[in-house]
Amino acid sequence: MKAILNYGAGDLRLESIPVPQAQDDQVLLKVLACGICGGEYKLAKASNGATPAAAGIIPGHEIIGEVVQSATDTLPAGTRVAVSPNYSCGLCEACRTGHLYLCVNRPKRTAEIGGGYADYALVYPGQCYALPDDLETLDAAITETLACCLHGVEKVNIQPGERVLIIGAGANAQLFVQIARIRGASFVMVVDNLKDRTEMALSLGADMAVDAAEQDPLAASPLLSNGADVVIVNRGRPEAVTDAVNWCASSGRVLCYGVPPAGIPAPIEPHLLWKKEVSVVGSRSYGTSFGASLALIASGRIQVRPIITRVVALDETIDALRTPQASIKTVIVPSA
Ligand SMILES: [Zn+2]
Ligand SMILES: [Zn+2]
Repeated sequence: MKAILNYGAGDLRLESIPVPQAQDDQVLLKVLACGICGGEYKLAKASNGATPAAAGIIPGHEIIGEVVQSATDTLPAGTRVAVSPNYSCGLCEACRTGHLYLCVNRPKRTAEIGGGYADYALVYPGQCYALPDDLETLDAAITETLACCLHGVEKVNIQPGERVLIIGAGANAQLFVQIARIRGASFVMVVDNLKDRTEMALSLGADMAVDAAEQDPLAASPLLSNGADVVIVNRGRPEAVTDAVNWCASSGRVLCYGVPPAGIPAPIEPHLLWKKEVSVVGSRSYGTSFGASLALIASGRIQVRPIITRVVALDETIDALRTPQASIKTVIVPSA
C-alpha cells in the first residue's frame, strides 16, 4: 500500500509498504478519507520539534474507513466507520483521574499502530463509530475536529444570550461559530484579516466579522462595548491571548484552543484577570463528544462541507502539508 511516513524534521516520504496485519483484537480499515489536522502542518517544517520516537510513523488521526477485517460481530466487513483516535491506557494518572483523552501513553500507542495517511490503517474496535448510511464520507472526516471544538466549548460553557468573540477564521473557528449559535449565543463576532474566511464565517452564522488591524472589535459593535462573555483563541500568535483577555467582559472566559508553540509565553495583565474575574482555560482533544459530533454532522445542524476546501490524493499530500494557507480544511482521499 501507499503511505506517508514521517521521519522527523520535515522529512516526509511517500512509500510503498506492506498492508498491516490485524491482530485478533484489531480492525483493519481501508482508509476512505483522513482529515489533515491544523497541528499536522508542522510535520512538513524542518524545525518541527518532532521527537526521534515519532520517526518512521504514519501520521493522521482523523480517519474515516471501511472495515476490511475484524473479529468483532458489530463491525462486519464493509461497515463505514469514523475512528476516534483517543487511546487510554487506564494506568497513568490522567486516565485514573477520569481524563482518558489526556493519557500520557497515547503517543506510544499511536506510534505502534500508525495513522490514516495511508491506503489502510489498523485501529481497535472501541475506536470505531459506524456512520449513518446517508452521511457522506467526506463530511464524516470532520467528526474528530468538531468533537474537539465541542469539548472546548464545554470548557467555557457558552450560555444562552452570551456574546462570543472568535479570534481566527480557520476550520475550527468556522465550527465554533456554529456551536456558539447552537448554544444560544446572542452575538457572534469573528476577528480575522482573511476576507474569504470571514465571509464564510458570516455565511455559517457569525453576526459580524472584523479585521482587528483596521478596527477595534469592541468599538465595532455596541453589543461588545463591555466586552465579550467568551473569547475563543484560534491563533498561534501570543498577542491573540493578550487581546482575548483585554476583550473579555466581566466574568468572561477565554478558551486557548489554537495556541503558540511550546516555550512561547503570552503577556497577560493579571490586574485585568482580577478586576474582571476572567478565567483563561485551555482545551485539547475531547472527552466524550465524539458521538455527539457525528450526530450533529449527520443531522446537518453543523455544516461541514463548506469548510472542506481541498481534497487531495496521497501523492499530493506532502505538497498539501507544505501549503497550509491554501485551504481552510484539507481532507486526504487515498483513492482520489
Ligand atoms: Zn484533529
Ligand atoms: Zn493513560
